[in-house]
Amino acid sequence: MITESRKKELLAHAEETFAKVEELQRLGLVCDDGDFVPSVHYPPITQYDNCDIDEYFKTYTLPADGMMDIYVHIPFCIQHCTFCHYPGLTGERVEEKKKYIDYLIREMDIYREYHGIDKIKPRSILLGGGTPTSLTPELLEHFLTEFEKRVDLSACKQYNVDLGPNSINGESGTKKCEIMKAHGITRLTIGLQSLNDDVLKLMNRPHNSEEAIQSVYKALEYGFDVNIEFIYGHPGETIDNWIEDMEKAVGLPMNEIQVYRLKVQAYGDFQGIINRFHRGSGSADIPDFKSTMMMKQIAQDIFNEHGFNERLRRVFTKNKAIFSHYAYNQCCNQFDQVGFGLTGFSSYRDRFDINTQNFEEYYAAIDAGKLPINRGLVRSAEEQARWAIVLPLKNRDVRKTEFKQRSGYEFDDVFKTKVSLLKEYGLLEDTGNIIRLTELGGFVADEVCEQFNSIPYLPFPRERYAEGPLNPYLNNVLFE
Ligand code: SF4
Repeated sequence: MITESRKKELLAHAEETFAKVEELQRLGLVCDDGDFVPSVHYPPITQYDNCDIDEYFKTYTLPADGMMDIYVHIPFCIQHCTFCHYPGLTGERVEEKKKYIDYLIREMDIYREYHGIDKIKPRSILLGGGTPTSLTPELLEHFLTEFEKRVDLSACKQYNVDLGPNSINGESGTKKCEIMKAHGITRLTIGLQSLNDDVLKLMNRPHNSEEAIQSVYKALEYGFDVNIEFIYGHPGETIDNWIEDMEKAVGLPMNEIQVYRLKVQAYGDFQGIINRFHRGSGSADIPDFKSTMMMKQIAQDIFNEHGFNERLRRVFTKNKAIFSHYAYNQCCNQFDQVGFGLTGFSSYRDRFDINTQNFEEYYAAIDAGKLPINRGLVRSAEEQARWAIVLPLKNRDVRKTEFKQRSGYEFDDVFKTKVSLLKEYGLLEDTGNIIRLTELGGFVADEVCEQFNSIPYLPFPRERYAEGPLNPYLNNVLFE
């Protein structure tokens, strides 16, 4: 239990950090009301144009070593969480789930045939969604068996599943843990989101805090690496109940905790119901910008005190050898990754694409023997250079030699004015070979990395930023 004097220290540090964020807002880095868009892909995937698949793949070559990471999207959940901006179906839906899994496997076959691949050889796999474990044990077993007939797991270093607590509790959950273990799954990300029962109700989560904790112990008992995640800035959260949650989190015996900020307005195709809170018809207030930023700093301080350090952005681990290979390969190594399923996205060395978000379109494409891709982008040389900065910088660092290999440019020749300003304001550091975010830069990582987005891909219009030196619309030219 945290003492009053420790709490005062945490609050004082969080206030100090917020004062720095306000200063960055005056300089034009952070937008007028503090809203943000997570910089998770570059360019943002839902902003791509529709694409002709044959044209899109015409100049694509498979990686020389034949390896790629795999993402599989299972768009089913027990119920829809208030804050979630992913489209998906809720409830039992036994027949629909069977149908979807059948099409998912067929999509993998179409992909293999299209590229002339016998088996896809992953470095890592992520089964996400949605909630992959909302499948019945029988359907999960069937899916994993069919999936693994189409992949060569011999070099796969990490096999991940994202899930919600209730889906592995109880007898059926035990069967799912046994099945996942038998299929070689190594790491589970459990979306706890909160450990406060009132907040969990407002989130419309299908579990309470006790069940959430049970699921962590259950996963550990089966020998999985466990990563737990929380959302901050959600209605019902206060600085006090957030401190309590973070204290409980660091008391759990797993090695990885991630925290992410509530996003009220969707940044993709689907608007979650959280928007209703924003419009005032919800039953609790959304914490303001200042409280939200303070929650972030408080979480970081509590994690650091307990030996959890930020190794990949917003993921805190006790041991530096523990991290998501899938995220690291995609965002830092920038290796090829292929996605399957509704909204599944693929990130290749010089292009990105995303599958349709509409079930009927998805099924129709597969029935026609086509890949269900509906939007894609082959990056121009300039967008390639921006991509080679935004994602590695956000997640860990930009190695200048790798930047040169990926973009063809010397790092020191591009964005000279912008890089120099970001250094001047204490947001970037340059070791000579590596560019990385400072502690303050990491605190506002999305905003700093979006400085390198091209103007059509900036998250907010120019008037939403102060006309200071860090307004992202200024010095937004590759050679300046
Ligand atoms: S947050 Fe996760 S469990 Fe909740 S609706 Fe979204 S995908 Fe499903």
